[in-house]
Amino acid sequence: SITQCTELNNRVKMPWLGLGVYKTQEGAQVEQAIADALEAGYRSIDTAAAYGNEEGVGRAIAASGLKREELFITTKVWNSNQGYESTLKAFEDSRQKLQLDVIDLYLVHWPVAGKYKDTYRALEKLYKDGHVRAIGVSNFLIPHLEDLLGSCEIVPAVNQVEFQPFLTQPELQSYCKDRNIQLEAWSPLLQGHLDVPLLQEIGHKHGKSVAQVILRWDLQNGIVTIPKSVTKSRIIENADIFNFELTTEEMEAIDGLNENRRLGSDPMNFNF
Ligand code: NAD
Repeated sequence: SITQCTELNNRVKMPWLGLGVYKTQEGAQVEQAIADALEAGYRSIDTAAAYGNEEGVGRAIAASGLKREELFITTKVWNSNQGYESTLKAFEDSRQKLQLDVIDLYLVHWPVAGKYKDTYRALEKLYKDGHVRAIGVSNFLIPHLEDLLGSCEIVPAVNQVEFQPFLTQPELQSYCKDRNIQLEAWSPLLQGHLDVPLLQEIGHKHGKSVAQVILRWDLQNGIVTIPKSVTKSRIIENADIFNFELTTEEMEAIDGLNENRRLGSDPMNFNF
């Protein structure tokens, strides 16, 4: 069911499916999208300081009437706030905007060269002090993880990276799996570019949409997924993936679409 969880490397449970709110407008839009998602059964929300909508996320959570422990809220420290002290400050700012005492998952948004280790040390401090239930990274490739694991105390619980049928990063998948780092997919729905014949064909066989096929493929690959939508019918559709199963052949066929094609920035070479 939609509340199915993966158990992170510190035993904390994280839902396999969440709502992404990148480019969801602060104010009425984000509040309505979250209200619709919670009504559809979502319990996990993925935001970031950089999305500029943490206050709306906070208002939507407060208005939901759900118990705090039923929800799983992720946010991230933005690049311009990286470094030890500034990350602690940025966390406090996010926490207040979200109106939460404790954040479920706090991530280093991008591996800013020369800074991400100090940033991560601040996350470790927040974790030890009980302000976050789990800590992790985003957009970390194997070299970044090797570097970080060489000196960190707490193995990241999660690595959130671009993951979609044309970018499956098999080496990164097994690297994370071997180290008990849960991989999480951003832009799982190809940012809406869903007219892929193979996926349409597979969807047709199951009476499912391309979006549902991709999200189901994420789950069967053991990858947490956070599709974005602000349209109620799509929010509901994207969660209706727990009642069918892709065959081994279908899984392999989708895996076979990989061509290392990114929609977003390359973590080895970004400048923001
Ligand atoms: P996505 O792949 O989830 O695509 C979202 C778009 O797909 C929507 O805007 C809509 O146009 C379309 N769509 C959604 N559901 C659909 C459906 N059922 N049928 C047809 N079209 C549909 O893109 P995303 O927003 O880039 O990624 C998802 C989330 O991942 C973000 O909202 C954010 O939370 C996270 N993210 C994180 C990073 C990072 O650096 N850590 C980067 C990008 C995104």
